[in-house]
Amino acid sequence: MYGTSEPPSSWLPATPRIPHHKTLLEYARLCRQTLAEFGQAHRAGDAATFQDWQFRRDKPQRAAILAALDGIPQLANARQRLLACGSKVHLYKHLPSGLHVIRRWRCGERWCPCCARAQLRRQRTYILSKIPTPQRGLSFLTLTHRAHPGESIGTAFSRIHKAFRKLRLAPFWKQAVLGGVAVTEVTYNAEEHWYNAHVHCVLDTTWMDLTDLQAAWTAIHGEWSNLHLEACADNNRISHYLSKYLAKPLPPEIYADPDRLRSAILSYRGRHTLAFFGGWHGLALTKQADAESKRQLDAAQIDPKEWCWVGELNTLVQEATQGDPQAQATLLAAGFGAVQLSLVQVSHPSPQRAPPRQLYLCPAA
Ligand SMILES: [Zn+2]
Repeated sequence: MYGTSEPPSSWLPATPRIPHHKTLLEYARLCRQTLAEFGQAHRAGDAATFQDWQFRRDKPQRAAILAALDGIPQLANARQRLLACGSKVHLYKHLPSGLHVIRRWRCGERWCPCCARAQLRRQRTYILSKIPTPQRGLSFLTLTHRAHPGESIGTAFSRIHKAFRKLRLAPFWKQAVLGGVAVTEVTYNAEEHWYNAHVHCVLDTTWMDLTDLQAAWTAIHGEWSNLHLEACADNNRISHYLSKYLAKPLPPEIYADPDRLRSAILSYRGRHTLAFFGGWHGLALTKQADAESKRQLDAAQIDPKEWCWVGELNTLVQEATQGDPQAQATLLAAGFGAVQLSLVQVSHPSPQRAPPRQLYLCPAA
């Protein structure tokens, strides 16, 4: 159900998910630290819910995206998912060790600041794991074209894409380049109100003649168009190079302008900012492959018999601040920290306890 349009209210996975690159102990420590930080923010009055805390650094960006999506009926579902992202956080206990971990519901939407960061981390790891050993040598190439006043972001994006495709058909390119990966980035000049598009590539290539390359790139556009080519001496730079551009699919300056942002979001529908080409074509991470690898990793790492669901975090926090001793003890054990007496005293007393939930049916570990 993870990452689908399933309403978050009914989302209750049976087990947590442990990232494949972490051990249970490492992940449990990370979750404990996360809970402790949220606990501190909550006690200080900075975050009422885990969602507030999760988006604490992205508040303006998230608000701008939500406002922009509000005017796009065909993306109403994406807006609902973004609104719900991080609102449900489930706490699980590993019975043999007594360790606690959390699993949050995330929207997985492209425009969600939190999910985009997670996607960036996945893409970076994926790219580095998939890039084949270069047969000729790696180079970085940045291609730029001249901005055309009045051109929309979508047109700028399409124009450079078409030009880059033409360049890849040139005989000298086919001869020199074995394969590569490219990220398209569009920047915005807030003074002139125009867009500049760039393609940043990592190429497996012999050293190309810069004069030929420059002449071909300029001829495609019919006007002087800039480029920059440099050898990549250290493969570790690839990750930094690509993720720098993957991290900002839209120019940050347009977030202050709802109409411009709305038009940019619409223009980017169906467009991919990351593309593999030449001999590297086919390395792209598809949604199906991503979901399948997650399923396999889950199956390999989680034994459902060893885990029990403890409760939904925001509900537990609410109950704890109302003075419920069991919810307080659960949060304390999970790393949230002690609930301040002052919080309890200003809250209304907890009503008569509801019948026990699964929370209190956990076998003692
Ligand atoms: Zn999200």
